[in-house]
Amino acid sequence: METTTQHNILDLLKTHFGYDKFLPNQEEIINNVLDQKDTIAVMPTGGGKSLCFQLPALALEGTAIVISPLIALMKDQVDALKANGISATFFNSSQPFEEQQQVLKDLQNGNLKLLYVAPESLPQLNFILNSIKISLFAVDEAHCISSWGHDFRPAYTQLKSLKEQFPKVPLIALTATADRATQVDIATQLAIPNAKKFIASFDRPNLYLDVRPGQNRNKQILNFIAKRGKQSGIIYCLSRKSTEKLAATLKSQGHEAEAYHAGLTSEERNTIQDNFLNDRTPIIVATIAFGMGIDKSNVRWVIHYNMPKNIEGYYQEIGRSGRDGLTAHTLLFYSFADVIMLRKFAEGTETETYQLAKLERMQQFAEALSCRRKALLGYFGEHITEDCGNCDICKTPPKYFDGTLIAQKVCSAVARLQEQEALGMVLDVLRGAQNAQVFDKGYQNIKTFGAAKDIAWRDLQQYVIQLLNQGVLQIYFHENGRLLLTPLAKKVLFEDKKVQLANIIKEVEKVKLERAPRKRADLFEKLKTLRSKLAQEISMPAYIVFSDAALEDMEHKKPRTREEFAAISGVGEAKLEKYADDFLKVINRHLDSLESNLPTHERSYKMFIEENLSPYEISQKRGLSEDSIYSHFIKMHKAGTEIDWFQFISSEEIQKIKKAKETLANPDALKPYFEYFEAEMPYWKIKLGLYL
Ligand code: ADP
Ligand code: MG
Repeated sequence: METTTQHNILDLLKTHFGYDKFLPNQEEIINNVLDQKDTIAVMPTGGGKSLCFQLPALALEGTAIVISPLIALMKDQVDALKANGISATFFNSSQPFEEQQQVLKDLQNGNLKLLYVAPESLPQLNFILNSIKISLFAVDEAHCISSWGHDFRPAYTQLKSLKEQFPKVPLIALTATADRATQVDIATQLAIPNAKKFIASFDRPNLYLDVRPGQNRNKQILNFIAKRGKQSGIIYCLSRKSTEKLAATLKSQGHEAEAYHAGLTSEERNTIQDNFLNDRTPIIVATIAFGMGIDKSNVRWVIHYNMPKNIEGYYQEIGRSGRDGLTAHTLLFYSFADVIMLRKFAEGTETETYQLAKLERMQQFAEALSCRRKALLGYFGEHITEDCGNCDICKTPPKYFDGTLIAQKVCSAVARLQEQEALGMVLDVLRGAQNAQVFDKGYQNIKTFGAAKDIAWRDLQQYVIQLLNQGVLQIYFHENGRLLLTPLAKKVLFEDKKVQLANIIKEVEKVKLERAPRKRADLFEKLKTLRSKLAQEISMPAYIVFSDAALEDMEHKKPRTREEFAAISGVGEAKLEKYADDFLKVINRHLDSLESNLPTHERSYKMFIEENLSPYEISQKRGLSEDSIYSHFIKMHKAGTEIDWFQFISSEEIQKIKKAKETLANPDALKPYFEYFEAEMPYWKIKLGLYL
């Protein structure tokens, strides 16, 4: 039994979705659903959650009801399903009445394998749900049910009745939120206490994790995107105003970028989002309002202009890049000023302690001096033993040096400033800055004034932050961020306790690991152009036709035939039918044109030998006459290539032609021969007979 199901679900995977293998946990989850059991699936963004209910929906009898929080999200998923030839649609309040009626009719008649519905619209379906065969319920983005989370949706709490009303129908809840409390909440709220939990690894090894100090952010960003051509990317900022300012800066430097935030009208937002999805606008500068509904697989980079307020948010946002599994670069700018601002936001709120604790973890991640991925996954309860090799720390490990003297100077300055000043002033004093604030307070007269003037401001700032992290200094955020000494500082000052500091400033310009995007053989570009054209014809985003990963696979495998094309990842039956011809034409033309560097006769001969094609087939493929192909062979022969002519012509035929030569009045032209043989002997044979 096991093997048949196994076999079946793999078949369905290739036939409908075009994939050969399951991603981690997909198979186990799918089997659990097929066994009619309730399931909680926790997988990172891009982990392939949708397939976990879409495939069972195809395997089981009836209609799968998918509860999904966002209308844009529903539409994208339904479009993608339809592109794969699967009957699916959605039901929500944005639809005109007639359309809704049609959906209800289709549902009633059992024409749908999947129906996506907003939680608010679910009650409207109730009377039909009781009378049809439901294969399963899927609750996508299930963390919306938890009042703990920031995405809480009251309508989700009504989903509790699903299990009461349909106790036999398997229910699967899916989320990317790793938080334990949320997971428990999901099980309770959906009344599936016995659901089997599948928690996939949160590792996304294709995401490069990069954290840099937040000085000269704009300049750093311009450098960064200059190297990335028209790749799609998202820059997250904390405020609406900064999204607009940064977008304007980028535009003024000739980049196509748009700002996106909640202050725009919904039409404006839709247009911007649409242009991004369709690769028309490569760069979006957005507040975190952007992204939840975005299911774009080829986002190649994400930048955090400001530090996010917790690791969950950070991980979800960087997770929007590289969903196609290809490499993506994520870059977080870390600045102490951001930490202070975020603390202010959290202070005085109901959940202050909780938020501050999360912020602190975020800060620790940003300041980590060992493998970032270890820190990140550790936060989600996953412990890896090896360093990842794909983060800034692993690529350029910080260099430690004996920082005791620097530490002593800093501590001494803090002491002499009576522990009353914040980071900025401490730095100014140490560097001997000649500014009004310093003079107003008479700090130019204290003993440590200018004690560290040989150290660049931003280096010194980094050292002080490290001293804070090492517990040598502490900061009172609630008192204007003043710096204070800890017991450890006293040891540094008076007991000559050694302090190690690291140089973590990376000169952006010098960072070597950023290679310019691989210069693609132009086949990829040609495939992309064809993809946009086809997408435009059906008014869909490009990735609905094929993901970048599928195009890469084509570029790599260079399929020339339908059979070869069917083996491409992402090509299922529907897409084979719809797109094979168009893509094969482009690929074949491209390959032929590459070979066109060869003299034409050599090309024909190469196809004969290497591709085992007959002269007729070659003539068809090359769009030449069969006659020309034989002329090419003759030319090869003249140049010394051995050819077994008797596979094309018999010795009797040669004799006949030689005989004709003696009788004909004009034996140098071919036409008289043709007439002589009453059109029974093709021209190429005549030519060949005469040559031999
Ligand atoms: P999630 O909802 O977990 O964020 P999605 O369901 O949107 O992720 O899937 C992310 C991407 O992975 C999609 O482009 C999807 O087509 C692709 N994908 C899903 N399953 C597979 C698979 N078995 N092999 C290859 N790609 C897959
Ligand atoms: Mg999803």
